[in-house]
Amino acid sequence: MRQNHYLSPTLRDVPSDAEVSSHQLMLRAGLIRQTASGVYSFLPLGMRALKKVENIVREEMDAAGAQELLMPAVQPAELWQESGRWDAYGPELMRFFDRHKREFALGPTHEEVITTLVRDDVKSYKRLPMTLYQIQTKFRDERRPRFGVLRSREFIMKDAYSFDTTQEGLDKSYESMFEAYTNIFKRCGLDFRAVVADSGAMGGKDTHEFMVLSSIGEDTIAYSDTSSYAANIEIAPVISKYENSDEKESSLEKFDTPQLKTIDELQSSLNIGKNKLIKAVLFIVDEKPVLALVRGDHEVNDVKIKHFYNAQVVELASTEETIKYMNCEPGFIGPINDSQEVEIVADKAVQYIVNGVCGANEKDKHFKNVNPLRDFSVKEYMDVRFIQEGDASPDGKGTIKFAEGIEVGHVFKLGTRYSEAMGAVFLDENGKTKPMIMGCYGIGVTRVLAATIEQHHDEKGIVWPTSVAPFDLHLIAINMKNEEQKQLSEDLYNQLKQSGFDVLFDDRAERPGVKFTDSDLIGLPIRVTVGKKAADGIVEVKNRKTDEVLEVSTNELISVLH
Ligand code: ATP
Ligand code: MG
Ligand code: MG
Ligand code: MG
Repeated sequence: MRQNHYLSPTLRDVPSDAEVSSHQLMLRAGLIRQTASGVYSFLPLGMRALKKVENIVREEMDAAGAQELLMPAVQPAELWQESGRWDAYGPELMRFFDRHKREFALGPTHEEVITTLVRDDVKSYKRLPMTLYQIQTKFRDERRPRFGVLRSREFIMKDAYSFDTTQEGLDKSYESMFEAYTNIFKRCGLDFRAVVADSGAMGGKDTHEFMVLSSIGEDTIAYSDTSSYAANIEIAPVISKYENSDEKESSLEKFDTPQLKTIDELQSSLNIGKNKLIKAVLFIVDEKPVLALVRGDHEVNDVKIKHFYNAQVVELASTEETIKYMNCEPGFIGPINDSQEVEIVADKAVQYIVNGVCGANEKDKHFKNVNPLRDFSVKEYMDVRFIQEGDASPDGKGTIKFAEGIEVGHVFKLGTRYSEAMGAVFLDENGKTKPMIMGCYGIGVTRVLAATIEQHHDEKGIVWPTSVAPFDLHLIAINMKNEEQKQLSEDLYNQLKQSGFDVLFDDRAERPGVKFTDSDLIGLPIRVTVGKKAADGIVEVKNRKTDEVLEVSTNELISVLH
C-alpha cells in the first residue's frame, strides 16, 4: 500500500480527551476517529489490524468446530419480552420505534435471537450439540463510554452460543471454548489471565473472564502467588472483621447465613450489575442479617448503595420523595455524624451512615420504603470486607495478590435460562421433551485490539506483535526525489509484495524526520529504509521492538526477512 494516497493521518500532539495510551495511540497513528460519543470509525490501518484480530478469532472458532453465522443488529422488542429481559436490561439497551410504531432494540448481545433460531430448526437430540458464532456489531448505551474503543457504545463482538443435551455436554463445549480463547489471546501476544467471574445477572453457574493484565483495567483480580486461584474481586470471598468483640461473633453465629460467605452466593439470587463492589457493611436487623453494599465504578461520587433486606434490594429514593414520605422538614434529612453506627432518628426515618463513605442521608440516596421499628430495629452491626492483598488464598495455597485487568473475553454456562423461557426444547432418546442446555461466549474484538496496544507500545508509538500488525513491514524511501532511491524502493516494493509480504510503502515527499516519526508511531514490526547506500544496493532493516539495525544487500533482503 502506498502511503501517499492512504488515509492514515498521524497526529503529533496527544489528543486532550484521550486518557490512556491505547486511545491516544489509536488516534495519533490514524487507526480510529470518533464519530459520536462512544462511536468510532476505523480508518484503513485500524481496519487492517482489526481484520487480523478477527481472523485469529475466526480461525480458532472454526478449529473448535463452531459454525459462523450472522444475526441482525436490529432486534424486535417481542423477543426480549419473551426472555424477560426487556424490562430487566435497563438503559444500556438502545430502544427505538419503526414507522409502524413497533418497538425494537439494537442488539447488545444475541441470546434471544440465537435461541429462537435454534428452537425453530432443531428438534432432536440427534442434531445436538452445536456451537454457533458471529462477529458482529453490538450496541450498548454505556453510562460512561471511555478509553476509546476499550469501552465504546458501538463495538464489534465475537459471540458464540452452545446448545447441548446434557450438563456433561455443556461442560465439554465450555472447555473447548475456554481452550479456543486461550489460543486466541496467546496468538494476539497478550499477557492475560482467566479468572473466576460473577454469574449474578445472567442466571447461570460456571463463568470465567479473560483479563488482560494492565494498570488501566477497570476490574481487579485477586490471585494466588503460588496456585492457579484467580478471581474477579467482585466474587472473591468476603472476610469478616470482628473488632475483637466476642459478643458480636457469637451473636452472628446464631444465624444460619450461608449467603454471607461469598458475594457470588449473595448475587446469584439478585440481579446486580457489574459495578465493582468496594465496601460492605453488615447489619443485624431483627435478628436477621442485612448486608449493605456500597458499590461504585472507581470514583466515590459514583457510589451507590444497595441494601439487602431479606435478600431484596431496597430501592433508593430521592430526597424530595423521602421528605414527603417522612412528612418532615427538608432540613431534617441531612448528615448526622461520622459514626459507623446505624442511627434511627425518628420512627419513620431511615438514616444510615455507611462507613463514612456514602450514606442514606446523602442527597437523593435514601432507602425507599423501609420503616425502622416497623420493619426492623437495629441490634448489632459489624464490618465485613472483601479479600485483600496479603490474605491467605481461599484454596489454602499461597498469598493473595491483586492486579488490574481489562476484560477481553467472557465464557458462561447459561444452563436453561433462555431455552426454558423461550421454549428451545428437543426430544431425547426416549421421546421426552427437554430444554436445551446453553453456554455463551463473548470476545470484544475491538477491545482486544486496544488492549493489545495497551500492552505493546513505547514512548514513540505502537509496537505491534507480528500477528496483529496491520502490515508486515514499512518500506521507507528517505528521499523520493533521488532517482536511485526512488527506483530501488519501487523495485523492492514490488519484490516484497510478490514474496508475500504486506508492505506499507512511504512514498510521500516528506522530510526523513517526519517519515521516521510516523513510522515509529505506526509501529510495524520491521522497517526497511532505502537511503544513501541505494546506489550500492544496500538498505537498512530495523526491528521496531528490539531497535536492532542491519545493513542488508538487496539481493539478500527477502531471505533476511524470512
Ligand atoms: P464490561 O464488564 O467491561 O462492561 P461486560 O461484562 O458487560 O463487559 P460481556 O457482556 O461479558 O461484557 O460481553 C462480552 C465481551 O464484550 C466482554 O468481555 C468485552 O470484551 C466486550 N465488551 C463489552 N462491553 C464492551 C464495550 N462497551 N466496548 C467494547 N467491548 C465491550
Ligand atoms: Mg464484565
Ligand atoms: Mg458491561
Ligand atoms: Mg462480562
